Amino acid sequence: MFLMKKIHLFPFLFISFLSCQKVDNLMAPEVDERLTFFFESFKKEGSSRGQNINMEDIIGQIIDIETDGVLGRCNQLTSGEKHLMIDRLFWETATMTEKEYVIFHELGHCALNRRHLDATNKDGTCTSMMQSGNGSCKMVYNAQNRSKYLDELFSQ
Ligand SMILES: [Zn+2]
Repeated sequence: MFLMKKIHLFPFLFISFLSCQKVDNLMAPEVDERLTFFFESFKKEGSSRGQNINMEDIIGQIIDIETDGVLGRCNQLTSGEKHLMIDRLFWETATMTEKEYVIFHELGHCALNRRHLDATNKDGTCTSMMQSGNGSCKMVYNAQNRSKYLDELFSQ
């Protein structure tokens, strides 16, 4: 398994963004109830930063993602809906902070149409939680820097 145990350092985290890939929609248009808390939290964090985010076209599921190391995905469906997927094994072992990071990153793609950004601060940390996981910056996401990363997430 490719996932590091601690949220403090997961520079090798792979999160794949496949918005350009068109796939058939065979899924019911709904959000897994385990994801609802995070979807609502995302909406609230956006709202508190002046963004009214429409998430009604996003399907959220926890499934087995076959590709090693990929924890989450956001696919654009041919129907126009978006399909956010969180890897089941990751879900079962992750902390709340890790879950929030991956779900918010994927919602950055699905709900905010953001692309990856691998820019680096002077101290080597990533400027954005939209970092690809393939870049050279170090991703640290914790209670201390959460609001700073969310400010950046919703500012683009
Ligand atoms: Zn991504």
